[in-house]
Amino acid sequence: MARRMTLLAMGLTLLGAAACGQAAAPGRPLAAAAPVAVAAPAVPHPTPAPRPVTADAATKVAAQVGPFVPNELGEIPILEIHNVASPESRWEITPANLRAIVANLYASGFRPVTFRDVVERRIDIPRGFAPVVLSFDDGDPSQFQWAPGGQGTTPAANSAVGILWNFHLAHPSWAAAASFYVNQNPFGGDSAAKIKWLVAHGFEVGDHTMNHVDMSKLDAAQMLYQVGGLAAWVQNTVPGYHVSTLAYPYGFSRNMPATAWTGSINGQSYHIQGALLVAGNPAPSPYSKAWNPLAVPRIQVADPSTVQRVSDRALVWSAWEPRLLANHGAELYVSDGKPGTVTILPGEQAQLAANVPPASVVVGK
Ligand SMILES: [Zn+2]
Repeated sequence: MARRMTLLAMGLTLLGAAACGQAAAPGRPLAAAAPVAVAAPAVPHPTPAPRPVTADAATKVAAQVGPFVPNELGEIPILEIHNVASPESRWEITPANLRAIVANLYASGFRPVTFRDVVERRIDIPRGFAPVVLSFDDGDPSQFQWAPGGQGTTPAANSAVGILWNFHLAHPSWAAAASFYVNQNPFGGDSAAKIKWLVAHGFEVGDHTMNHVDMSKLDAAQMLYQVGGLAAWVQNTVPGYHVSTLAYPYGFSRNMPATAWTGSINGQSYHIQGALLVAGNPAPSPYSKAWNPLAVPRIQVADPSTVQRVSDRALVWSAWEPRLLANHGAELYVSDGKPGTVTILPGEQAQLAANVPPASVVVGK
């Protein structure tokens, strides 16, 4: 744990300094409020829309058992990806590399969920598999283009969405699940149709502010416009859908106005229940007392040779990947396959969050 905390602190102050490769203020660290309570959403989230029915649901794969021992207090890797393009650089990964990352995760016993699934404690994957979240920031055009002749229906094979969708079609037990954190007018055009397609096919669309701004510097009205405006646009575009998570473009502070989490604008109310940091480590379990839904760490996907500080290179996915994939799940969140129970390892009861119903807890062997 001590090692993890040290790395987390490094990630927050160093990797956070150049979040997303866009106009980051040089040297500005992610506000160093560590994972302690920031602000609680003032209004409970409405009943979430049911997960859309996808092609996968109709052909739900018969219950498989994964390679790991159930441990629902383990950690969850949340990958942070920006552009999908060549050549590989600080904020670009190649289509081939994204395919390889997904294939490695799949073969190693991981299954994708959205960040929303984690926040809402709805990690619904078969027993013995480990959840992973793929998150994509900034709505770059390279994340979602239509295939030639497939306008409105088929994502381009080399776009991020196309890579994930085609992998799902070829491997139905790899769900169509990932979280896309967008700004206004994402994906280089035809934005509304692409947002609708994502939601209709099981993906999450989350909030990255209207203009990719530093939320730690906004007053209440600016926050309403930036966070609420983006959420309202998504919700007006996809009736019945509720934006419930965000990714901080740079950082946050403990004193942000309540409009960061809830408000009403443009005919929509919004309720943010979870928020992602720009760097760090695997995330705590949502059942753990270490879990803070408004400060959840992520692992950046980047070629380590493009990361300026040598010490930061230990924080990127290519450094974490062999450790997480090779340790046979020892520190990972591993599903027990039963949404109604929380299976933990012996002796770890003290790590449970106070609001986990005791009757739902199963101590494994
Ligand atoms: Zn960003």
